[in-house]
Amino acid sequence: MTALNDGWFTEVFQDQGTAFSLQVTKKLHEEQTPFQKLEIYQTETFGNLMVLDGCVMLTTRDNFLYHEMMTHPALFTHRDPKKVVIVGGGDCGTLKEVLKHPGVEEAWQVEIDERVTRMSEKYFPELCEANNDPRANFFFGDGIRWMRDIEPNSVDIIIIDSTDPVGPAEGLFALDFYRDAMLALREGGIIVQQSESPLLHTDTIIKGIHEDMRKAGFEHVQTLPFPQPVYPTGWWSCTMASKENPIKYFREDDANNRPFVTRYYNAGIHHGALAMPQFMVDALEDEVRPEEG
Ligand code: SAM
Repeated sequence: MTALNDGWFTEVFQDQGTAFSLQVTKKLHEEQTPFQKLEIYQTETFGNLMVLDGCVMLTTRDNFLYHEMMTHPALFTHRDPKKVVIVGGGDCGTLKEVLKHPGVEEAWQVEIDERVTRMSEKYFPELCEANNDPRANFFFGDGIRWMRDIEPNSVDIIIIDSTDPVGPAEGLFALDFYRDAMLALREGGIIVQQSESPLLHTDTIIKGIHEDMRKAGFEHVQTLPFPQPVYPTGWWSCTMASKENPIKYFREDDANNRPFVTRYYNAGIHHGALAMPQFMVDALEDEVRPEEG
């Protein structure tokens, strides 16, 4: 539920008894795409704001936290990622972070709603800086079908940068999708899923992701929390899983010597994100193997 009052955009989380507001100076865009209602606002202090179906997606000011954490822990954990697929991620922020890695030869953004990308190009141009990189490929269509049809053993990393698990994104948080992703991954492959709020969703969505990823054959599963001020509770997470290699070992030297600029991610942040809060360890007890706990 959203409200616009006296120059404030408010997203109300009725079931939590909370709300998040940003002071807005102008509505820049509004349309009903074939998939969702897309709104863009100019805010007083957070730059531009994208809203899908009333839910805050990103702002100019703080999106780097999410996009860097969806990308760099996975790319510095895989031994040699060459082909990366992003499912969702229409704002292109994750694609930009992926293409910072010189070893990546091919990246695909598989987004159901082309309008999100077109409006991001207009209102978040800094996120779309890598869109003309020859390694960048775009497919506008359903990521669930795309994953079903992709050639087996052809991808190194799959990043699920989706909306919440409702509507077209529901099937991206599902066992069948993880099974298809497992088939698509090459040896050493890694999957990363945006996995909602540790405070709100550990016993529900995050636990479900761990269970389904394990059922799909991902032996090692780990949730990495990170701050995200504009999402419910201000605290978010991604869940990373691999078939063969424990997630806790990453290429720390390469992370320290990365040949590109980050604003949040570094090797220390990576270590810290691998330490799950005790209540999450307790809740995911059956799912967390001793080597990863
Ligand atoms: N950072 C955001 C968050 O966590 O709320 C998500 C950013 S990105 C804008 C999410 C994208 O996922 C949306 O543009 C949406 O259109 C896309 N999406 C949802 N379901 C999809 C599906 N089945 N296949 C491909 N893209 C999908």
